Amino acid sequence: MKHEIEFLIIGQGIGGILIAFELWKMGKSFLVIDDGSEKAASLAAGAILNPVNLNKWHLFEDQKTNWNISLKTYHELEFLLKERFLIPLKFYFFPENDFKKIPEEIPFVSKPDQKDINMVSEIFNNPGDALEISDVYRVDIHRLKSAWKKFLSQKGIYIQTDFHFSDCAFKNNSVEYGGYIFQKIIFAEGARGIANPYFHDLPFIRNLGNVLHLKIENMPREIGFHSDKEKLIPMGEGRFWFGSNYEWSFNELLPDIRWQNECFDILKRRLKIPFQITEHFVAERPTTIGQKPIMIQSKEHPELYMFNGLGTRGFTVAPVLAKEFYGKYFGNKQVE
Ligand SMILES: Cc1cc2nc3c(=O)[nH]c(=O)nc-3n(C[C@H](O)[C@H](O)[C@H](O)COP(=O)(O)OP(=O)(O)OC[C@H]3O[C@@H](n4cnc5c(N)ncnc54)[C@H](O)[C@@H]3O)c2cc1C
Repeated sequence: MKHEIEFLIIGQGIGGILIAFELWKMGKSFLVIDDGSEKAASLAAGAILNPVNLNKWHLFEDQKTNWNISLKTYHELEFLLKERFLIPLKFYFFPENDFKKIPEEIPFVSKPDQKDINMVSEIFNNPGDALEISDVYRVDIHRLKSAWKKFLSQKGIYIQTDFHFSDCAFKNNSVEYGGYIFQKIIFAEGARGIANPYFHDLPFIRNLGNVLHLKIENMPREIGFHSDKEKLIPMGEGRFWFGSNYEWSFNELLPDIRWQNECFDILKRRLKIPFQITEHFVAERPTTIGQKPIMIQSKEHPELYMFNGLGTRGFTVAPVLAKEFYGKYFGNKQVE
């Protein structure tokens, strides 16, 4: 007799984790499968939550609606997992010469106060240009993912393996897979969702980001900055993340050396202290036309759902969208 479970979730990037968390809170039975790939967008990301759109000098449109829900959800997860992974940053912005005129007043943006100015002067060239952005956080996704994996593994509901579509058998409004019977499968595969054989004509557009990892010994632990495009984000223990760019046309996932050289120049210009590039890699963002998330149910196989297309700000929007997704498809069947 095969074991029956209500949900199977494929993928444990930030999308899959937050969907699984919603199911957990609602007391649903579920199993998750993730292949443990280090190339997943969530693991490659700067994973920053920033309320201000610095390119347009205004708050992100969803700032009011999404922001508090996102922070609250991450805090709830921290509480459940007894692990701290939402890290507040001291985050500075250095507008370059040709940057749009800065408005007189904008929420979350101010000149660094007197007690910070000495520290800023020791680290950065032209410290007088610095603006401080408040309420910026980094989600330490490596810590979150490993704590979540441990939590679910202890309950026997996390399997690290590749999901094979050809092994699915559709029977009586359910799907047999790997010796189990599932009522529903939720695909949260990130950029690999483009090749999902059960969902067609999805509005994905491929997008690649280059990332540098740096070692900066003398940089205080939780300081980051934003130049016109790239961001420096602390990863702990003197390690930093620097990126990223947006490539819309590419055939292979290869690092762009010209971009690395440009970044080297930005870092040289901006930092007074020595830095060392330790790694250069690329990752694909799960982006869509019009930056709209994909939250759908298959017409052909109504047991199948997709949660994807989280785009460039996945870490801010995923907590809210995971709730919306749950409410839309499973909400009326909440808590038994
Ligand atoms: C360079 C870069 C920088 C970014 N910076 C930020 C940022 O600062 N802030 C922000 O909010 N967002 C940022 N993003 C966007 C953010 O990373 C994404 O929106 C988000 O991570 C997408 O999460 P996801 O769970 O949908 O996909 P993913 O993180 O890709 O997760 C999908 C998971 O499913 C697994 N999987 C797929 N297929 C299978 C299968 N068949 N079997 C088993 N497992 C499978 C994958 O291996 C992976 O673990 C950035 C993205 C990139 C690439």
